[in-house]
Amino acid sequence: MKVHEYQAKEILGKYGVAVQPGEVAESVDAAVASAERMAAEGVALFVVKAQIHAGGRGKGGGVKLAKNVDEVKEKAEAILDMQLVTPQTGPEGQKVRKILVTAAEDIAHEYYIGVTLDRARGQNVIMASTEGGVEIEEVAEATPEKIVKVYVDPAVGLRSFQAVEVASRLGFEGAAFKQTIKFVRALYMAYEESDATIAEINPLVLTNDGRVVALDAKINLDDNAMYRQPDLAEMRDEHEEDPLEIEAGKHDLNYIKLDGNVGCMVNGAGLAMGTMDLIKLAGGEPANFLDVGGTANAQTVEAGFRIILSDPNVEAILVNIFGGIVRCDRVARGIVEAAKNVDITVPLIVRLQGTNAEEGMAILRESDVELESAIILQEAADKVTSALRK
Ligand code: GDP
Ligand code: MN
Repeated sequence: MKVHEYQAKEILGKYGVAVQPGEVAESVDAAVASAERMAAEGVALFVVKAQIHAGGRGKGGGVKLAKNVDEVKEKAEAILDMQLVTPQTGPEGQKVRKILVTAAEDIAHEYYIGVTLDRARGQNVIMASTEGGVEIEEVAEATPEKIVKVYVDPAVGLRSFQAVEVASRLGFEGAAFKQTIKFVRALYMAYEESDATIAEINPLVLTNDGRVVALDAKINLDDNAMYRQPDLAEMRDEHEEDPLEIEAGKHDLNYIKLDGNVGCMVNGAGLAMGTMDLIKLAGGEPANFLDVGGTANAQTVEAGFRIILSDPNVEAILVNIFGGIVRCDRVARGIVEAAKNVDITVPLIVRLQGTNAEEGMAILRESDVELESAIILQEAADKVTSALRK
């Protein structure tokens, strides 16, 4: 689950990470009121920032400096409701519904720092660089030696000397060195305790008056941990998510929309991936990843069909179920029931294997659902791609 920059800064602030003061607003008037409050506290320069679940906002015109409250109004008018296109949004962009008004910092240098999981090592990794403010992937590609990596054993946690190592390898000295050590420790704590999969600050800045502050913040949270993070779960912003994926979540379906034309309904993530590979090998393109899980019934199958069919690109559907705990006859009944409520307007190919597969196929044969069946997965994939050509 992704959260907005202002929410990430709120989380980080609670753990003692130095962030700029700021207020989020959903209207120009609210943004002006925020700027007036901040001006009363001595803020003379502001930044107005689009809040969307994508980075690269600066490049797309979603981050603007404002020299006074009147300019905050002007920039807020320009940014709110705009369709912001950044290198991370895709060409259609993302509508801006919220803006963050922050106190601008006077930057001496921009750094990068992030914490994430290194799956291959089974450890957390703190990555930092003196080359901040630009895309870190580019730094990693062109000048990998400029990225400092410190691995943290999750069972041990961050050791003090590791925070010291990060601060010193970034070249900090004096008071900024001490602040950076504190920053790294607080950032790691925030990452760990909020069950984040990534906590990234780009840029982390050293200001001209010697402070170390997070100018930007990105936190992604582990969906599987949301049950124990009720406060963070409330930060979900459904406007930023794919409506079909939200609908799928309500039915406990694991759905990810893709760009192809073959809808797939499969049980188990591994089989789903194998099915997608075979569709590609047979010359098709999967329109989605959909794992109906181990408890597929008429309701989940029906929801699956609805979700797949609401994608206009879908020209054929392949149902591939391996009956284990979920028996094939039950899935077949689910398909028959679902077909009564959903108008399946594209060719349907069904492959049932495993427990009660024959009973399942018999149920489908005796029903009036129009479909083709297949026994071998390759055959199913070939049938679905030849259905596309018809
Ligand atoms: P992103 O483009 O989505 O990553 O948004 P950022 O929050 O990182 O802002 C983009 C860029 O705007 C930063 O890299 C800075 O160069 C600039 N910027 C943002 N906040 C400030 C600020 O307070 N002062 C100054 N001088 N520049 C800022
Ligand atoms: Mn940034």
